[in-house]
Amino acid sequence: MVEQLPVADRLEEHLESSGHRVTAPRRAVLRSIAARAEHFTPDEIVEDARPAGRATVFRTMRLLQDEGIICRVLMRDGSLRYRVGELGHHHHLICMECGDVRDFSGCDIPAGVQEIGEMAGFEIQGHSLELYGRCARCRAREVAREGSSAVTT
Ligand SMILES: [Zn+2]
Ligand SMILES: [Zn+2]
Ligand SMILES: [Zn+2]
Repeated sequence: MVEQLPVADRLEEHLESSGHRVTAPRRAVLRSIAARAEHFTPDEIVEDARPAGRATVFRTMRLLQDEGIICRVLMRDGSLRYRVGELGHHHHLICMECGDVRDFSGCDIPAGVQEIGEMAGFEIQGHSLELYGRCARCRAREVAREGSSAVTT
């Protein structure tokens, strides 16, 4: 079994293996990103990764995006967050109650939209999709609440 590297090391290794130099400011940005279990905004990283400057944070995040290491999440209110997600093509399930974001892969949208493209004479080159709703945990909480109120009333 392959030993799992800490997230920060994994990010660093990924960048280096694709030919990018990991400088000290970049490393600070990687550590800050890796320390976040959930999604984050660039501003949070700017706060946290000092003395790495704003420009370095944005450049590094752009690089990580290009490498597919972090992905953008479009929240329901239109704001953008970022997170370390699955490598490769995937989409997000976003819980509107607790804000939890999950990745899911195995989308078969390309097959589904092929016909739309053909009808419009449009060559489709990509797509994005976010699904909004309530996560299993939040739903279970609600069921538990309903259950207990049924008992007491
Ligand atoms: Zn993702
Ligand atoms: Zn939830
Ligand atoms: Zn897809």
